[in-house]
Amino acid sequence: MHINDAVFLEDLCPKFRLRQWRKSIHRFTGKSCIYCGKPSESIDHVLPRSQGGLSTTENCVPACLSCNGDKSDENALYWYRRQKFYDPRRAMAIRAWLEGDLRLAIRLLQWANPNFKKNNNNQTRDQSKYKAA
Ligand SMILES: [Zn+2]
Repeated sequence: MHINDAVFLEDLCPKFRLRQWRKSIHRFTGKSCIYCGKPSESIDHVLPRSQGGLSTTENCVPACLSCNGDKSDENALYWYRRQKFYDPRRAMAIRAWLEGDLRLAIRLLQWANPNFKKNNNNQTRDQSKYKAA
């Protein structure tokens, strides 16, 4: 798709833009939950909306429904520290993500999950198949 077409479509249809944005968030982690590594099914606000958290890429991370639901309106970093699957590398990744350093966040997530890169590549390749189906 040509970049100008994308802008045009986004202007025409805000829902399309929201969907593209949500997709791009999941793509960053290879569709895995930033907290536990399971498949991400939702977008979680690290700083909850009830506490003034914005729907920006820096504040929104891919999360599975279980983590998203359990965390509820808590601050993500406090909540995450109490979890059985707590991994300091993931905690660092979440902090980097919050600071807008997605590249560092992704590198830390890859470190936390050695299969991450392989899975991510497979999913990227498979995406065209899903679209065609
Ligand atoms: Zn999770």
